[in-house]
Amino acid sequence: MGIGYSLFCKKCGYSRNLFAGCGMMYNEVLRKLTEEAKRGDHGERLRELFEQYPNGCIDAMNNIYYCPDCRTVECDSRLDFYRPKDASREAEDDIFAPDMDEFVLVEAHGHLCPKCGRLMNEVMRLTENEPVSCPVCGSVMESGRMLMWD
Ligand SMILES: [Zn+2]
Ligand SMILES: [Zn+2]
Repeated sequence: MGIGYSLFCKKCGYSRNLFAGCGMMYNEVLRKLTEEAKRGDHGERLRELFEQYPNGCIDAMNNIYYCPDCRTVECDSRLDFYRPKDASREAEDDIFAPDMDEFVLVEAHGHLCPKCGRLMNEVMRLTENEPVSCPVCGSVMESGRMLMWD
């Protein structure tokens, strides 16, 4: 299930739609991300973690990230790394549809801004409590919850 957000700047008219959560393709996305992470495509640290915990698992849930410096807004998979509570658990196919109750968080993944390299904030809900500024003109944007799908 996912949630869509729309961001709209009243001042300059900039708008952007964003999606959080996961769709029906979650297992496919997770499988692909896991392969990439093991190869080191998502950073040296994730590659090391998979070497240390071959039966580990990443969180492929889509999330919204916001850079407080340059105001970049991006959707990305969380990529937090989990290991099984039962250390003897074998890496199996069903790792791709893991029951997260059987896993513990090893390390949260830091999302760096693709533009300026700063650590981005995770925006769980786009509300007035966490205003998101317009990347074009800097005004606080209107945000609205748009739709959910599964
Ligand atoms: Zn930035
Ligand atoms: Zn604007």
